[in-house]
Amino acid sequence: VSDVASLLAGVVGPDNVLTEGAALADYGHDEALSVTPGQPAFVVKPGTTSEVAGVLRIASEYKLAVTARGSGTGLSGGTIPRPGGLVMSFARMNQILEIDTANHVAVVQPGVTLADLEAASAEHGLSYPVYPGEMSASLGGTIATNAGGMRAVKYGVTRRHVLGLEAVLASGEVLRTGGKPVKLSSGYDLTQLIIGSEGTLALVTEATLRLYPRLPAQAVLLAPFGSLTKVTTAVPRILASGVGPLMLEYMDARSMAMILQGENTDVGIPDSVRETTQAYLMVVHEERDSGRLDADVADLAELLADAGATDVYALPRAAGRRIIEARERAFWAVKRSGADDILDTVVPRAAMVTFLGEVEKIAARHQRMVIGTGHAGDGNVHLVVFEPDEVARGQLMREIVAAAKASGGAVSGEHGIGTAKVKHFLEQADPVALSLMRQVKKAFDPDGILNPGVLFG
Ligand SMILES: Cc1cc2nc3c(=O)[nH]c(=O)nc-3n(C[C@H](O)[C@H](O)[C@H](O)COP(=O)(O)OP(=O)(O)OC[C@H]3O[C@@H](n4cnc5c(N)ncnc54)[C@H](O)[C@@H]3O)c2cc1C
Repeated sequence: VSDVASLLAGVVGPDNVLTEGAALADYGHDEALSVTPGQPAFVVKPGTTSEVAGVLRIASEYKLAVTARGSGTGLSGGTIPRPGGLVMSFARMNQILEIDTANHVAVVQPGVTLADLEAASAEHGLSYPVYPGEMSASLGGTIATNAGGMRAVKYGVTRRHVLGLEAVLASGEVLRTGGKPVKLSSGYDLTQLIIGSEGTLALVTEATLRLYPRLPAQAVLLAPFGSLTKVTTAVPRILASGVGPLMLEYMDARSMAMILQGENTDVGIPDSVRETTQAYLMVVHEERDSGRLDADVADLAELLADAGATDVYALPRAAGRRIIEARERAFWAVKRSGADDILDTVVPRAAMVTFLGEVEKIAARHQRMVIGTGHAGDGNVHLVVFEPDEVARGQLMREIVAAAKASGGAVSGEHGIGTAKVKHFLEQADPVALSLMRQVKKAFDPDGILNPGVLFG
């Protein structure tokens, strides 16, 4: 260990290598609810791409497992290091290298957080739309998980916004893909292959990202419904209208109660309405000016009422902000309420009705509470499972994932497979696709040192 530590210190400097002490434990976990933390042998904090390359050359030579770490906010155990392995923390590579206002592009290092990029883009009237709620997440981590979040219904998920990457292969070779052009038809798209690969193919050291004009006028509508079915049928109708909302989030009544209670907040829904509500739809819309906004909001309110909403509340600015923030922090509220695990299954949005019906039956069969929120416009359902027994929980979740697959969906829409969902992924993945994925992995990382355990087990 000490030989390798001094080699690593030779590359990144002794202050940027940790080999013992409590600090190592900080790098052994992410926010996944059910994954046992790991203890790495080394934590390395490179400051430049050539330092990343130097560390990877050493890791290759000593066959050390390398786990990349952004902010550690992932929900799938993707940052859990292998015993004896190395964590590559990108915390020091946190510079915004360029905001190119003519091309609407940002060039960033991987340790830049979403919050930092949002603040820097706002100064130029621009915005990076990936919005998982957890704004401390890093660009490297969100690229590696292909993060989605609440604005994806309008702007799409991370892969829509990454134009180019610099990434280091396990061998230490530096790869550059794409760039500022918004279109390319020049060979295989390696940018897209690396996005969502969860640190298993290459480590991202720079990204070229699309920015969009910020639209200043925003409104928040909250619509309670007497049944979840009505919510899921309202969603395609809203999208078919062409209004194009920024967010379209559903929360079942139990999740909403936990979220509001957890945040100690109230958005003014009368008790009489709350008592008959099974689920809520939150619709956020943005426009260039208040005239356009008001016209669209009127249309949205009419659509929601026609779809069977008990009422439609156009929330005042402060209450609107509070409900969005409470929704952002839904994960912490359910965690405090004793949730044992969460899934982020995705189905075609029109199949949400059938899928959620199946989930209800599965929960009833297991006599366990399964509650949900989700990016309804994307068919991305976040299910919170309350079942402390690990074996029983595994079976319950297996049935939910099988139901998602039967509805034409998949195990994860945005959090990734990590180590937490490997079993479900391997059970449900197409065997030919899986075999090709293993060959791709071998082409990038022949010795399998990059995040072993993730995706393939
Ligand atoms: C409260 C809360 C709400 C959330 N809501 C959402 C949501 O709505 N939508 C959503 O998509 N996600 C959501 N997430 C999870 C989300 O996946 C993460 O916040 C984010 O994508 C991970 O960023 P990170 O920097 O924390 O990455 P980490 O957790 O550090 O790492 C995540 C993965 O990326 C890899 N990785 C990190 N950096 C690099 C790099 N430079 N190169 C290669 N691989 C790398 C890691 O090895 C790991 O596999 C939420 C999380 C929390 C805590």
